[in-house]
Amino acid sequence: MPIYTYQHSKDNPDCEHVPTFDFEQMSRDFPLSVCPWCGKPVDRLLSTPTIKKKLFDCELRDKGFTKLVRVDDGLYENMTRRAGEDKYVDRRRPETLPHLEKTIED
Ligand SMILES: [Zn+2]
Repeated sequence: MPIYTYQHSKDNPDCEHVPTFDFEQMSRDFPLSVCPWCGKPVDRLLSTPTIKKKLFDCELRDKGFTKLVRVDDGLYENMTRRAGEDKYVDRRRPETLPHLEKTIED
């Protein structure tokens, strides 16, 4: 979801909580008209909303995550497969489990 930045209106500059704040909302939602903390009028700043970035599987892997997607009962596809790991993780075959001890070592 995009994150928009709000600022208190010029007429009501003082909020004891936050001068500006970020608010996550759908772009089709109406902009906030009042501050959720003090209830005074706010304006949405005209800036490009920040989109929370979805990480690709290879980025997850580079950050040290392991992602398994269930394909069948007890069977998972290893989306962050590293060298030497199996494409599928089978609950009944422990040798197919991701090599976490190797990931931690890296
Ligand atoms: Zn406020």
